[in-house]
Amino acid sequence: MAHILLVEDEPNLRALLGRLLGETGYRVTTASTGSQGLRAALSEEYDLVVLDLMLPDIPGEEVLHVLLAARPDAKVLILSSVPEVGRRVGVLDGGAADFVAKPFVNAELLARIRLRIRDDGSGRSNAPYLAIDDGARVDVQRRELMINSQRVPLPQREFALLTYLLNRKGEACSREELLADVWGIGFDPGTNVVDVYVGRLRAKLAPDTIETVRNVGYRLVAR
Ligand code: CA
Repeated sequence: MAHILLVEDEPNLRALLGRLLGETGYRVTTASTGSQGLRAALSEEYDLVVLDLMLPDIPGEEVLHVLLAARPDAKVLILSSVPEVGRRVGVLDGGAADFVAKPFVNAELLARIRLRIRDDGSGRSNAPYLAIDDGARVDVQRRELMINSQRVPLPQREFALLTYLLNRKGEACSREELLADVWGIGFDPGTNVVDVYVGRLRAKLAPDTIETVRNVGYRLVAR
């Protein structure tokens, strides 16, 4: 099981992310300050460090710098609302493996985390593709559907929905879960937005790839 260190000072977000990652099947250790995170990151091997930039004691950039100086192969995904392009570019130049902007969509964050973790517990490699079936896969980096070498771009929400269903392949996902995790909506909006987007994906995928689970929601069929 891959082990993730989550360095985030905002308590609600730390709890929410800890739960999300735990439910996805990762082992999670959390830290609420930069120094605490750095201590943890230097004392144990992690498959990935998810690091906030705005921390109460030391800036995330400093944590990144010290960590990579001591452990050049550490993989760090920056999760931050910092709007300045310069700071974003700075952390990538500074050796961060990826940058995900807050606010983020859970499904996209999970897809990017999965990409960055060498061993995701499934025994598959870190290839930037998620297999749908024998003929189709998702290029996570480029947000494209690849069907027998043909590439179809996926708009952000379709991409998020598809990667979410793929992460839970074979499981029924309720409309409530999909609304919460793909759209960030925690209440019944009284629309059929989930069904509309499933319809769009179905039009691009092989027939019966996404099954309707009566009175529940949808399931991506494991093949
Ligand atoms: Ca923060």
